[in-house]
Amino acid sequence: MSSHLPAALLDSLAGLPGYNRETFERVHAAAEKITSLRLNPTKIKSPEKAQQVLQSLSAAGVSKVPWNSEGYYLPARPSFTFDPFFHAGAYYVQEASSMFLEQAVRATVDLSAPLKVLDLCAAPGGKSTLLQSLISPDSLLVANEVIKVRAALLADNLTKWGAPNVVVSNNDPRDFSRLPGYFDLVVVDAPCSGSGLFRRDPELVSEWSPENVTLCSQRQQRILADVLPAVKEDGIVIYSTCSFSAEEDEVILDWLADHFELENITIPLEEQWEIIPTVTHKRNCTGYRFYPDRLKGEGFFIACFRKRSGGAVRRPKEQKRVALTARQRDVITPWLNIPPSYQYFLHQDEVLILPPLLAAEMPLLQQQLYIRKAGVKAGQPGQKELIPDHQLAASMLVSDDLPAVSLNLQQALQYLRKEDPGVTTGVRGWSLVRYEGMNLGWAKFLPNRMNNYYPKELRILKEITGV
Ligand code: SAM
Repeated sequence: MSSHLPAALLDSLAGLPGYNRETFERVHAAAEKITSLRLNPTKIKSPEKAQQVLQSLSAAGVSKVPWNSEGYYLPARPSFTFDPFFHAGAYYVQEASSMFLEQAVRATVDLSAPLKVLDLCAAPGGKSTLLQSLISPDSLLVANEVIKVRAALLADNLTKWGAPNVVVSNNDPRDFSRLPGYFDLVVVDAPCSGSGLFRRDPELVSEWSPENVTLCSQRQQRILADVLPAVKEDGIVIYSTCSFSAEEDEVILDWLADHFELENITIPLEEQWEIIPTVTHKRNCTGYRFYPDRLKGEGFFIACFRKRSGGAVRRPKEQKRVALTARQRDVITPWLNIPPSYQYFLHQDEVLILPPLLAAEMPLLQQQLYIRKAGVKAGQPGQKELIPDHQLAASMLVSDDLPAVSLNLQQALQYLRKEDPGVTTGVRGWSLVRYEGMNLGWAKFLPNRMNNYYPKELRILKEITGV
């Protein structure tokens, strides 16, 4: 079977640990599609709920992704668009090899500590949602994406994920040099030549060239050099790509070890995972290779380092914050279920809810970064009532005591298309809209109709068939 992979790629991989040209070509030619997802532990709190969500996606059952605590393979790809659980943030559809990031994080940082984490190349949010699920509620994740439209998508996906300890920024990697020695953990999931995804997306093959591999390698070095000052002393850098090319993988590890005070860290593996350790010739650095002909996942590469030098951030003078009026507080409080340590932050007439570490760091982050989203936007407090924001409905901070209307599958899909599902209810005014106990968004019920407040930009556009 021919795989239509570039000969120059196949030739360049000869001799790399774990590479077998015959099985590699065969698995690409077979073009099996693997579907995997990661449950959201913030929203799926019981094994019964997990079972319900997974069962609704695959009556034939699911199997575990062996290296991730929340990861599952589905035997076939369902229509996620027409699954209200997907829109409710019950899970994130993520390629299985990437989920190994969990093992890298567990091997390198103390997850019980309050950590400051940066996901530098974060859109659309696969690694960010995974990192958020791993860190403690006292920690802070900055999910950054340099491309503006992709940063908007990242923000939407993190809104759906529902956790308050996240900031989404839209900055170039070099901007992070303004935060010297700031982060405990920086993940660089670098833009790459993408050969690891050729089985899943064969159309990417035509974009591949040896010249592009070289360009990617140079860009990866630039990105890493730009962000390294922002890592604190003894902080961790995790580098990953979805490329098989040594120029973007092992060569980058040697370059890092050559140019910076970095100590390579190994990650414990289980033999049956079939993940291949690779040790660089020059500096003895270990990375990990993922081949689709060896494991159930796409091509991936990952390595970890500890930084041996530091830096210190200069904090802005504490600025006086605009406080909420007593009236605004009264208006907003009944909508929320938040610990007393959480803080209100007034930003352009809208109230953000920030966990303590994020509240403390906000002045610095606002000064140094272009922030797209921080914490959970609760809404606009008017004189009489709050106009609630979608972020609040999607978050874990929304009160359980608010009016809520439950929709069946058909109605939920109509709601998600921003239509009026025509439910009969005694509820009047603002209400949460739910599907199987999970919040989808807001609606305002009037005597003879419902105003649908699902965000226009998130609505389902595809035609519903067969539901
Ligand atoms: N981490 C993401 C996830 O798990 O969903 C995938 C990230 S993707 C491999 C790489 C990202 O880097 C893309 O979102 C891309 O827009 C961004 N990127 C492109 N050029 C960049 C640059 N020069 N510096 C930083 N990021 C860049």
